[in-house]
Amino acid sequence: MTITVQTPPLPAPSSADPFADTKCGACIGLCCRYFALEIDTPDEPSDFENLRWYMLHERVQIFVDDDDWYLQIYSKCTMLGDDHKCMDYENRPQICRDYTDESCDYDGPQGEVFHNIAELDAFRDKWVAEYEAGEKRRADKAKRRKGKKKKRR
Ligand code: SF4
Ligand code: SF4
Repeated sequence: MTITVQTPPLPAPSSADPFADTKCGACIGLCCRYFALEIDTPDEPSDFENLRWYMLHERVQIFVDDDDWYLQIYSKCTMLGDDHKCMDYENRPQICRDYTDESCDYDGPQGEVFHNIAELDAFRDKWVAEYEAGEKRRADKAKRRKGKKKKRR
């Protein structure tokens, strides 16, 4: 399943409602429509099995930010009002206070995003090919070193 989030264009400035002129004022509260949990960065081919399992579920995707991997679960916050504003702004959790509109969801993904298992599989195939090439290089190097040691005797 592909999840599509649309970012409406920023409105023309008007002095009537200063909030409406801001990025958040033009947004539908994209950052309040999911939560994301950091997951292990794949280190070896078998690590992709869990990632593939995550991707078999509805309303999830995986994204990579600064080399950190996250499972993103689309589930709207119960405090997000129909006007796309927080209904309990004064008591919002710290994570909401820390989030800024700099390079936020409105601007689109900053790194790799896997919307479905096919995209993840394509990435995995390339990743595994590079991993195996690296393993082979390391094995060849170790073999050459061993050969040199033998010659010295
Ligand atoms: S911080 Fe970004 S994603 Fe969140 S409401 Fe503002 S513009 Fe939208
Ligand atoms: S508590 Fe408010 S700011 Fe935080 S995610 Fe929910 S709606 Fe958004």
